[in-house]
Amino acid sequence: MDINTLKKMCIDEIDKNKDEIIKIGRDIYNNPELSYREFKATKITIDTLKSLGLDVEENIAVTGCKASINEDKEGVKVAVLGELDALACPEHKDAKEEGAIHCCGHNAQIAGMLGCAIGLIKSGVFKHLDGKIDFIAVPAEEGIELEYRKYLQDNKMITYVGGKQELIHKGYFDDVDMAMMFHLGSIKDNKKCIIKGKSNGFIEKGITFIGKSAHSGGGPHLGINAGTMANLAINNINALRDTFKDEDKVRVHYIINHGGDAVNVVPNKVTMEAMVRSSNAEAMLDANKKFNRSLQAAALAIGGKVIIEDFIGYLSLETDDMMNSLFKDNLINFLGIKEDEIVDLNIGGGSTDMGDISQIMPCIHPYIMGATGDFHTKDYKMVDEEMGYVNSAKAMALTLIDLLYDNSKKGKQVIEGYKPTYTIKEYLKFLEENNVVHTHDYTEK
Ligand SMILES: [Zn+2]
Ligand SMILES: [Zn+2]
Repeated sequence: MDINTLKKMCIDEIDKNKDEIIKIGRDIYNNPELSYREFKATKITIDTLKSLGLDVEENIAVTGCKASINEDKEGVKVAVLGELDALACPEHKDAKEEGAIHCCGHNAQIAGMLGCAIGLIKSGVFKHLDGKIDFIAVPAEEGIELEYRKYLQDNKMITYVGGKQELIHKGYFDDVDMAMMFHLGSIKDNKKCIIKGKSNGFIEKGITFIGKSAHSGGGPHLGINAGTMANLAINNINALRDTFKDEDKVRVHYIINHGGDAVNVVPNKVTMEAMVRSSNAEAMLDANKKFNRSLQAAALAIGGKVIIEDFIGYLSLETDDMMNSLFKDNLINFLGIKEDEIVDLNIGGGSTDMGDISQIMPCIHPYIMGATGDFHTKDYKMVDEEMGYVNSAKAMALTLIDLLYDNSKKGKQVIEGYKPTYTIKEYLKFLEENNVVHTHDYTEK
Protein backbone atom coordinates (compact mmCIF):
# COMPACT_ATOMS: atom_id res chain seq x y z
CA MET A 1 0.00 0.00 0.00
CA ASP A 2 1.17 3.51 -0.81
CA ILE A 3 2.65 5.47 2.11
CA ASN A 4 0.28 8.43 1.86
CA THR A 5 -2.73 6.09 2.00
CA LEU A 6 -1.33 4.54 5.18
CA LYS A 7 -0.82 7.99 6.67
CA LYS A 8 -4.38 9.03 5.85
CA MET A 9 -5.80 5.81 7.33
CA CYS A 10 -3.89 6.50 10.52
CA ILE A 11 -5.06 10.12 10.74
CA ASP A 12 -8.70 9.04 10.22
CA GLU A 13 -8.42 6.42 12.94
CA ILE A 14 -6.98 8.94 15.42
CA ASP A 15 -9.80 11.36 14.57
CA LYS A 16 -12.37 8.60 15.14
CA ASN A 17 -10.89 7.98 18.60
CA LYS A 18 -10.32 11.61 19.46
CA ASP A 19 -12.67 11.66 22.46
CA GLU A 20 -10.95 8.68 24.06
CA ILE A 21 -7.49 10.21 23.53
CA ILE A 22 -8.55 13.54 25.05
CA LYS A 23 -10.14 11.68 27.97
CA ILE A 24 -6.80 9.94 28.69
CA GLY A 25 -5.06 13.32 28.77
CA ARG A 26 -7.66 14.74 31.14
CA ASP A 27 -7.73 11.66 33.41
CA ILE A 28 -3.98 11.78 33.94
CA TYR A 29 -4.12 15.56 34.46
CA ASN A 30 -6.70 14.98 37.19
CA ASN A 31 -4.52 12.34 38.87
CA PRO A 32 -1.07 13.93 39.04
CA GLU A 33 1.58 11.80 40.75
CA LEU A 34 5.20 12.51 41.61
CA SER A 35 8.23 10.58 40.37
CA TYR A 36 8.33 6.81 40.86
CA ARG A 37 4.80 6.91 42.31
CA GLU A 38 2.85 7.22 39.01
CA PHE A 39 0.59 4.28 39.76
CA LYS A 40 -2.70 5.67 38.41
CA ALA A 41 -1.13 6.99 35.21
CA THR A 42 0.58 3.64 34.69
CA LYS A 43 -2.75 1.84 35.20
CA ILE A 44 -4.49 4.05 32.63
CA THR A 45 -1.67 3.30 30.18
CA ILE A 46 -1.77 -0.45 30.83
CA ASP A 47 -5.56 -0.59 30.41
CA THR A 48 -5.43 1.27 27.10
CA LEU A 49 -2.60 -0.85 25.68
CA LYS A 50 -4.40 -4.04 26.75
CA SER A 51 -7.61 -2.82 25.11
CA LEU A 52 -5.61 -2.77 21.86
CA GLY A 53 -4.82 -6.46 22.33
CA LEU A 54 -1.20 -5.96 23.40
CA ASP A 55 0.74 -7.82 26.07
CA VAL A 56 1.97 -5.31 28.60
CA GLU A 57 5.03 -5.57 30.80
CA GLU A 58 4.01 -3.78 34.00
CA ASN A 59 5.96 -1.70 36.53
CA ILE A 60 9.23 -1.80 34.63
CA ALA A 61 10.96 0.71 36.94
CA VAL A 62 8.82 0.82 40.11
CA THR A 63 6.06 2.23 37.86
CA GLY A 64 5.85 2.52 34.07
CA CYS A 65 5.08 -0.12 31.46
CA LYS A 66 5.98 -1.34 28.00
CA ALA A 67 4.18 -3.01 25.07
CA SER A 68 5.62 -4.00 21.71
CA ILE A 69 4.22 -4.49 18.23
CA ASN A 70 5.63 -6.22 15.15
CA GLU A 71 8.17 -8.15 17.24
CA ASP A 72 8.31 -10.81 14.52
CA LYS A 73 9.33 -8.35 11.80
CA GLU A 74 12.81 -7.59 10.51
CA GLY A 75 13.97 -4.01 10.37
CA VAL A 76 14.47 -1.09 12.65
CA LYS A 77 13.03 -0.83 16.17
CA VAL A 78 11.71 2.53 17.36
CA ALA A 79 10.80 3.24 20.98
CA VAL A 80 7.95 5.70 21.44
CA LEU A 81 8.17 7.25 24.89
CA GLY A 82 5.75 9.09 27.12
CA GLU A 83 6.64 10.46 30.56
CA LEU A 84 4.29 9.77 33.44
CA ASP A 85 5.28 12.10 36.24
CA ALA A 86 3.84 15.35 37.49
CA LEU A 87 5.77 17.80 39.63
CA ALA A 88 5.09 19.81 42.75
CA CYS A 89 3.72 23.35 42.52
CA PRO A 90 1.34 23.75 45.49
CA GLU A 91 0.26 27.25 44.41
CA HIS A 92 -1.23 25.96 41.13
CA LYS A 93 -5.04 26.01 41.30
CA ASP A 94 -5.34 22.37 40.15
CA ALA A 95 -2.63 21.02 42.49
CA LYS A 96 -3.57 17.84 44.34
CA GLU A 97 -1.98 15.95 47.25
CA GLU A 98 1.67 16.88 47.93
CA GLY A 99 1.14 19.87 45.60
CA ALA A 100 1.32 17.51 42.62
CA ILE A 101 0.26 19.05 39.33
CA HIS A 102 0.96 18.39 35.65
CA CYS A 103 2.51 21.80 35.05
CA CYS A 104 5.06 20.30 32.67
CA GLY A 105 2.29 18.71 30.58
CA HIS A 106 3.51 15.11 30.77
CA ASN A 107 -0.13 13.96 30.79
CA ALA A 108 -0.25 15.05 27.13
CA GLN A 109 2.75 12.85 26.35
CA ILE A 110 0.92 9.73 27.52
CA ALA A 111 -2.26 10.73 25.67
CA GLY A 112 -0.20 11.37 22.53
CA MET A 113 1.74 8.12 22.82
CA LEU A 114 -1.44 6.10 23.35
CA GLY A 115 -3.21 8.03 20.58
CA CYS A 116 -0.34 7.08 18.29
CA ALA A 117 -0.72 3.40 19.29
CA ILE A 118 -4.49 3.56 18.75
CA GLY A 119 -4.03 5.10 15.29
CA LEU A 120 -1.47 2.56 14.09
CA ILE A 121 -3.13 -0.52 15.59
CA LYS A 122 -6.87 0.03 15.15
CA SER A 123 -6.37 1.13 11.54
CA GLY A 124 -4.27 -1.98 10.80
CA VAL A 125 -1.53 0.28 9.40
CA PHE A 126 1.12 -1.36 11.59
CA LYS A 127 0.85 -4.54 9.53
CA HIS A 128 2.18 -2.62 6.52
CA LEU A 129 5.28 -1.42 8.33
CA ASP A 130 8.62 -3.25 8.19
CA GLY A 131 9.91 -2.60 11.65
CA LYS A 132 9.17 -2.94 15.34
CA ILE A 133 7.75 -0.45 17.81
CA ASP A 134 7.99 -0.33 21.62
CA PHE A 135 5.56 1.91 23.48
CA ILE A 136 7.17 2.77 26.80
CA ALA A 137 5.57 4.80 29.60
CA VAL A 138 8.56 6.15 31.52
CA PRO A 139 8.57 7.30 35.17
CA ALA A 140 10.48 10.06 36.91
CA GLU A 141 11.69 12.64 34.41
CA GLU A 142 11.55 15.63 36.75
CA GLY A 143 14.76 15.90 38.80
CA ILE A 144 13.06 16.50 42.15
CA GLU A 145 12.84 14.84 45.57
CA LEU A 146 16.42 13.64 45.75
CA GLU A 147 15.81 12.40 49.30
CA TYR A 148 12.97 10.12 48.16
CA ARG A 149 15.07 8.73 45.31
CA LYS A 150 17.95 8.07 47.69
CA TYR A 151 15.47 6.13 49.83
CA LEU A 152 14.48 4.06 46.77
CA GLN A 153 18.16 3.52 45.98
CA ASP A 154 18.95 2.47 49.55
CA ASN A 155 16.09 -0.03 49.36
CA LYS A 156 17.40 -1.38 46.03
CA MET A 157 14.22 -0.35 44.20
CA ILE A 158 16.12 1.81 41.72
CA THR A 159 19.76 2.27 40.78
CA TYR A 160 19.59 5.67 39.08
CA VAL A 161 17.59 8.79 39.85
CA GLY A 162 16.18 9.42 36.35
CA GLY A 163 13.52 7.15 34.85
CA LYS A 164 15.23 6.86 31.47
CA GLN A 165 18.64 6.31 33.08
CA GLU A 166 17.06 3.50 35.08
CA LEU A 167 15.46 1.92 32.00
CA ILE A 168 18.73 2.10 30.04
CA HIS A 169 20.43 0.42 33.01
CA LYS A 170 17.74 -2.28 33.08
CA GLY A 171 18.29 -3.09 29.41
CA TYR A 172 15.08 -1.64 27.94
CA PHE A 173 17.01 0.17 25.20
CA ASP A 174 19.43 -2.65 24.36
CA ASP A 175 17.53 -3.70 21.24
CA VAL A 176 16.15 -0.24 20.36
CA ASP A 177 17.61 1.62 17.37
CA MET A 178 16.04 5.05 17.88
CA ALA A 179 13.60 6.80 20.17
CA MET A 180 10.94 9.45 19.87
CA MET A 181 8.72 11.49 22.14
CA PHE A 182 7.22 14.96 22.14
CA HIS A 183 6.85 17.49 24.91
CA LEU A 184 3.87 19.78 25.31
CA GLY A 185 5.00 23.34 24.63
CA SER A 186 3.74 26.70 25.76
CA ILE A 187 2.35 28.97 23.04
CA LYS A 188 4.44 32.07 22.26
CA ASP A 189 4.18 34.30 19.19
CA ASN A 190 1.49 32.02 17.68
CA LYS A 191 4.01 29.25 17.06
CA LYS A 192 2.68 25.68 16.86
CA CYS A 193 5.83 23.62 17.23
CA ILE A 194 9.53 23.69 18.09
CA ILE A 195 11.35 20.99 16.18
CA LYS A 196 14.82 20.85 17.67
CA GLY A 197 15.22 21.59 21.34
CA LYS A 198 18.67 21.58 22.87
CA SER A 199 19.24 21.48 26.58
CA ASN A 200 22.01 21.35 29.16
CA GLY A 201 23.23 18.37 31.10
CA PHE A 202 23.87 18.58 34.85
CA ILE A 203 25.50 17.00 37.88
CA GLU A 204 23.55 17.15 41.10
CA LYS A 205 25.56 17.50 44.29
CA GLY A 206 24.99 16.93 47.98
CA ILE A 207 27.66 18.59 50.17
CA THR A 208 28.25 18.19 53.91
CA PHE A 209 30.87 20.18 55.82
CA ILE A 210 31.74 18.68 59.17
CA GLY A 211 33.60 20.55 61.90
CA LYS A 212 33.38 20.63 65.67
CA SER A 213 30.93 22.55 67.85
CA ALA A 214 32.01 24.96 70.58
CA HIS A 215 30.57 27.92 72.50
CA SER A 216 30.64 30.81 70.03
CA GLY A 217 31.26 33.34 72.77
CA GLY A 218 33.10 31.32 75.39
CA GLY A 219 35.53 29.39 73.20
CA PRO A 220 35.12 29.73 69.45
CA HIS A 221 38.80 28.78 69.01
CA LEU A 222 37.93 25.32 70.35
CA GLY A 223 35.53 24.67 67.49
CA ILE A 224 35.93 23.92 63.79
CA ASN A 225 33.39 26.09 62.02
CA ALA A 226 31.46 24.26 59.27
CA GLY A 227 29.70 27.54 58.44
CA THR A 228 32.99 29.25 57.60
CA MET A 229 33.92 26.31 55.41
CA ALA A 230 30.67 26.74 53.45
CA ASN A 231 31.29 30.47 53.26
CA LEU A 232 34.80 30.00 51.86
CA ALA A 233 33.52 27.34 49.45
CA ILE A 234 30.92 29.74 48.06
CA ASN A 235 33.58 32.41 47.53
CA ASN A 236 35.82 29.90 45.78
CA ILE A 237 32.98 28.72 43.53
CA ASN A 238 32.04 32.27 42.59
CA ALA A 239 35.68 32.98 41.73
CA LEU A 240 35.52 30.14 39.20
CA ARG A 241 32.89 31.77 37.00
CA ASP A 242 35.51 33.59 34.91
CA THR A 243 37.16 30.30 34.01
CA PHE A 244 34.18 28.90 32.09
CA LYS A 245 33.93 29.28 28.31
CA ASP A 246 30.75 30.95 26.99
CA GLU A 247 30.16 28.22 24.42
CA ASP A 248 30.05 25.51 27.11
CA LYS A 249 27.12 27.25 28.82
CA VAL A 250 28.39 26.27 32.25
CA ARG A 251 26.10 27.23 35.12
CA VAL A 252 26.82 26.55 38.79
CA HIS A 253 24.26 27.12 41.52
CA TYR A 254 23.93 26.18 45.14
CA ILE A 255 21.77 26.55 48.23
CA ILE A 256 22.55 26.05 51.89
CA ASN A 257 19.98 23.56 53.22
CA HIS A 258 21.15 23.57 56.79
CA GLY A 259 23.38 26.31 58.17
CA GLY A 260 23.66 25.44 61.84
CA ASP A 261 21.51 24.78 64.91
CA ALA A 262 21.95 27.71 67.27
CA VAL A 263 23.52 31.09 66.73
CA ASN A 264 25.65 30.81 69.86
CA VAL A 265 27.14 27.45 68.89
CA VAL A 266 29.91 27.08 66.32
CA PRO A 267 28.16 24.94 63.68
CA ASN A 268 29.64 21.47 63.42
CA LYS A 269 27.61 20.53 60.36
CA VAL A 270 26.45 22.53 57.34
CA THR A 271 24.78 20.95 54.30
CA MET A 272 24.50 22.34 50.81
CA GLU A 273 22.92 21.22 47.55
CA ALA A 274 24.36 22.30 44.20
CA MET A 275 24.13 21.80 40.46
CA VAL A 276 26.76 22.06 37.77
CA ARG A 277 25.32 22.38 34.25
CA SER A 278 26.82 22.50 30.78
CA SER A 279 25.92 21.90 27.15
CA ASN A 280 28.50 19.09 26.94
CA ALA A 281 29.73 16.32 29.22
CA GLU A 282 33.42 17.26 28.99
CA ALA A 283 32.88 20.82 30.19
CA MET A 284 30.43 19.60 32.82
CA LEU A 285 33.00 17.20 34.29
CA ASP A 286 35.73 19.84 34.11
CA ALA A 287 33.58 22.42 35.92
CA ASN A 288 32.64 19.81 38.48
CA LYS A 289 36.29 19.05 39.15
CA LYS A 290 36.93 22.75 39.84
CA PHE A 291 33.79 22.92 41.98
CA ASN A 292 35.01 20.00 44.10
CA ARG A 293 38.44 21.59 44.42
CA SER A 294 36.73 24.70 45.79
CA LEU A 295 34.95 22.62 48.43
CA GLN A 296 38.15 20.82 49.40
CA ALA A 297 40.09 24.08 49.63
CA ALA A 298 37.52 25.43 52.07
CA ALA A 299 37.75 22.34 54.28
CA LEU A 300 41.55 22.43 54.11
CA ALA A 301 41.73 26.09 55.14
CA ILE A 302 39.64 25.54 58.25
CA GLY A 303 40.96 22.07 59.01
CA GLY A 304 37.61 20.30 58.73
CA LYS A 305 35.98 17.64 56.64
CA VAL A 306 33.81 17.70 53.53
CA ILE A 307 31.70 14.90 52.08
CA ILE A 308 30.71 15.39 48.45
CA GLU A 309 28.01 13.22 46.85
CA ASP A 310 27.91 13.52 43.05
CA PHE A 311 25.05 12.22 40.93
CA ILE A 312 25.08 12.53 37.17
CA GLY A 313 21.76 14.27 36.58
CA TYR A 314 20.99 14.31 32.89
CA LEU A 315 23.15 14.66 29.81
CA SER A 316 22.67 17.39 27.23
CA LEU A 317 20.00 16.87 24.58
CA GLU A 318 21.07 16.64 20.93
CA THR A 319 18.32 15.45 18.58
CA ASP A 320 18.62 13.84 15.15
CA ASP A 321 18.33 16.11 12.10
CA MET A 322 16.84 13.58 9.73
CA MET A 323 14.17 12.42 12.17
CA ASN A 324 13.42 16.04 12.98
CA SER A 325 12.91 16.86 9.32
CA LEU A 326 10.54 13.90 8.84
CA PHE A 327 8.51 15.12 11.81
CA LYS A 328 8.45 18.67 10.47
CA ASP A 329 7.36 17.58 6.97
CA ASN A 330 4.43 15.68 8.48
CA LEU A 331 3.28 18.77 10.37
CA ILE A 332 3.30 20.79 7.17
CA ASN A 333 2.00 18.19 4.73
CA PHE A 334 -0.64 16.43 6.82
CA LEU A 335 -1.57 18.57 9.81
CA GLY A 336 -2.06 21.93 8.14
CA ILE A 337 0.71 23.68 10.08
CA LYS A 338 2.49 26.42 8.18
CA GLU A 339 6.25 26.71 7.87
CA ASP A 340 6.26 30.06 9.67
CA GLU A 341 4.38 28.55 12.62
CA ILE A 342 7.33 26.24 13.27
CA VAL A 343 10.48 27.14 15.20
CA ASP A 344 13.43 25.08 13.96
CA LEU A 345 15.74 25.45 16.94
CA ASN A 346 15.40 26.47 20.55
CA ILE A 347 18.21 26.28 23.10
CA GLY A 348 16.81 25.91 26.60
CA GLY A 349 18.53 26.21 29.95
CA GLY A 350 16.69 23.25 31.50
CA SER A 351 17.54 19.57 31.34
CA THR A 352 15.84 16.28 30.52
CA ASP A 353 16.82 12.62 30.76
CA MET A 354 15.89 12.34 27.07
CA GLY A 355 19.36 13.92 26.79
CA ASP A 356 20.83 10.63 28.01
CA ILE A 357 18.92 8.72 25.33
CA SER A 358 20.12 11.23 22.71
CA GLN A 359 23.76 10.46 23.53
CA ILE A 360 23.33 6.73 22.82
CA MET A 361 20.87 6.65 19.89
CA PRO A 362 19.12 8.95 17.41
CA CYS A 363 16.03 10.57 18.85
CA ILE A 364 13.57 13.46 18.61
CA HIS A 365 12.06 15.62 21.33
CA PRO A 366 9.93 18.28 19.59
CA TYR A 367 7.57 20.63 21.41
CA ILE A 368 3.93 20.73 20.33
CA MET A 369 2.26 23.89 21.57
CA GLY A 370 -0.96 23.30 23.45
CA ALA A 371 -0.48 25.15 26.73
CA THR A 372 0.09 28.69 27.95
CA GLY A 373 2.19 30.00 30.84
CA ASP A 374 5.71 29.04 31.84
CA PHE A 375 6.59 25.41 32.61
CA HIS A 376 6.72 24.50 36.30
CA THR A 377 4.69 27.54 37.40
CA LYS A 378 1.16 28.18 38.66
CA ASP A 379 0.30 29.88 35.35
CA TYR A 380 0.83 26.80 33.19
CA LYS A 381 -2.36 25.43 31.66
CA MET A 382 -3.59 23.34 28.74
CA VAL A 383 -5.53 25.49 26.29
CA ASP A 384 -5.53 23.49 23.04
CA GLU A 385 -6.38 19.82 23.57
CA GLU A 386 -6.60 19.17 19.85
CA MET A 387 -2.93 20.16 19.41
CA GLY A 388 -1.63 18.74 22.67
CA TYR A 389 -3.33 15.36 22.72
CA VAL A 390 -4.50 14.63 19.17
CA ASN A 391 -2.19 16.32 16.66
CA SER A 392 0.79 15.18 18.70
CA ALA A 393 -0.45 11.58 18.34
CA LYS A 394 -0.82 12.04 14.59
CA ALA A 395 2.61 13.63 14.12
CA MET A 396 4.31 10.79 15.99
CA ALA A 397 2.39 8.06 14.14
CA LEU A 398 3.15 9.62 10.74
CA THR A 399 6.85 9.88 11.57
CA LEU A 400 6.87 6.21 12.62
CA ILE A 401 5.32 5.31 9.27
CA ASP A 402 8.10 7.24 7.49
CA LEU A 403 10.80 5.48 9.47
CA LEU A 404 9.51 1.93 9.09
CA TYR A 405 7.90 1.92 5.64
CA ASP A 406 9.55 0.03 2.77
CA ASN A 407 12.02 -2.15 4.71
CA SER A 408 12.64 0.62 7.25
CA LYS A 409 14.51 2.44 4.49
CA LYS A 410 14.50 5.85 6.16
CA GLY A 411 15.03 4.34 9.60
CA LYS A 412 18.18 2.66 8.31
CA GLN A 413 19.39 5.96 6.84
CA VAL A 414 18.91 7.58 10.25
CA ILE A 415 21.07 4.90 11.86
CA GLU A 416 23.76 5.32 9.20
CA GLY A 417 23.95 9.06 9.74
CA TYR A 418 24.18 8.90 13.53
CA LYS A 419 27.33 8.76 15.66
CA PRO A 420 26.66 7.94 19.31
CA THR A 421 28.69 9.69 21.99
CA TYR A 422 28.61 6.48 24.02
CA THR A 423 27.64 2.87 23.48
CA ILE A 424 25.14 1.76 26.13
CA LYS A 425 27.97 -0.04 27.92
CA GLU A 426 30.18 3.05 27.88
CA TYR A 427 27.26 5.22 29.03
CA LEU A 428 26.58 2.97 32.03
CA LYS A 429 30.29 3.01 32.88
CA PHE A 430 30.23 6.83 32.68
CA LEU A 431 27.32 6.93 35.16
CA GLU A 432 29.00 4.51 37.50
CA GLU A 433 32.34 6.35 37.44
CA ASN A 434 30.80 9.75 38.04
CA ASN A 435 28.14 8.91 40.62
CA VAL A 436 30.56 8.97 43.50
CA VAL A 437 30.94 10.01 47.11
CA HIS A 438 34.26 11.70 47.94
CA THR A 439 35.34 12.38 51.51
CA HIS A 440 38.18 14.80 52.27
CA ASP A 441 39.21 15.03 55.88
CA TYR A 442 41.68 17.75 56.93
CA THR A 443 40.85 17.61 60.64
CA GLU A 444 43.95 17.72 62.86
CA LYS A 445 44.18 14.41 64.65
ZN1 LIG B 1 9.48 19.67 33.60
ZN1 LIG C 1 8.68 18.00 31.11
